[in-house]
Amino acid sequence: VKAMGKNGFQFYDPEMQSSAQERLLIEKGLYQALDKKEFQLWFQPQVQADGAIVGAEVLLRWMHPEKGVISPASFIQIAEESGQIVEMGQWVLTESFEQLAQWKAQGLPASFKRLAINISPLQFMQVDFVGRFLTMLTDYKIPGELIELEITENMLLNNFEIASNKMRILKQRGISFAIDDFGTGYSSLRYLRYLPLDILKIDRSFVTNLRPSSEEAAIVEVIIATADRLGLTVIAEGVETEEERDTLLELGCLCFQGFFYARPMPATPFYERLQQDMDI
Ligand code: C2E
Ligand code: CA
Ligand code: CA
Ligand code: CA
Repeated sequence: VKAMGKNGFQFYDPEMQSSAQERLLIEKGLYQALDKKEFQLWFQPQVQADGAIVGAEVLLRWMHPEKGVISPASFIQIAEESGQIVEMGQWVLTESFEQLAQWKAQGLPASFKRLAINISPLQFMQVDFVGRFLTMLTDYKIPGELIELEITENMLLNNFEIASNKMRILKQRGISFAIDDFGTGYSSLRYLRYLPLDILKIDRSFVTNLRPSSEEAAIVEVIIATADRLGLTVIAEGVETEEERDTLLELGCLCFQGFFYARPMPATPFYERLQQDMDI
């Protein structure tokens, strides 16, 4: 159990059902966080079977002056509902591009293919999202091929047509798309067929305690077979143990993300890790 903050609020606890008042406090805190530059990008490696880092997922962190590092699990949903996610998401994009441009100048290992960025539904549905995104890509001289956008099934539910049109425009510039948390939404296999997707991320809930010949393994096997037939790359998220990794490998998964390999980390240690790949 986490200790109560100075003022007695535990607004950073993701398990908590926030009351209206507590939500307002988070909202207020988020506005200040942007102004006071309390957000940071952390990076979690995505690794292929031989251990090489093929990419990284960008994960937002709130460096709270009193409460320490706060995970987005505690505030993303509130930011989505209050609309603040649009501005925060824009900040994440700018910051990611800036970081990537810097790493590109310093050198990236050949094995490193993409930086994966989470895009929230409200952000993606802004009428000027595509235009702004492409302008930034040009400004920072980033090849679209270096960027992967992670979207969720739930986002597509009401906006299938609009979302797929935006995706197609971005794909023409080399951007790739991953469907995130696959299997947890109102999972419609139809999405896989009609959306211009490249990558399917198997949700952690299917990976935790995964063993050969378990019922979970049967589900994962079907997901991987379906992805293969549709030409999608599969990434398993939340890989924490060797057994989980070995089972996934046996089921045909070739790309992994999780604590077994590395936790999310700030830019500097992440780049140091990338450099180890370059030395080999
Ligand atoms: P997600 O997209 O499913 O991201 C993966 C989450 O799983 C991350 O949590 C990561 O730290 C955690 N994780 C990775 N490997 C393991 C593992 O082996 N075991 C366990 N137990 N957890 C693992 P995080 O960073 O707290 O982010 C939570 C969620 O917040 C993300 O879930 C994503 O939906 C959202 N999020 C994070 N950054 C952003 C952002 O910049 N924009 C938007 N819209 N959402 C974001
Ligand atoms: Ca994600
Ligand atoms: Ca995910
Ligand atoms: Ca997940």
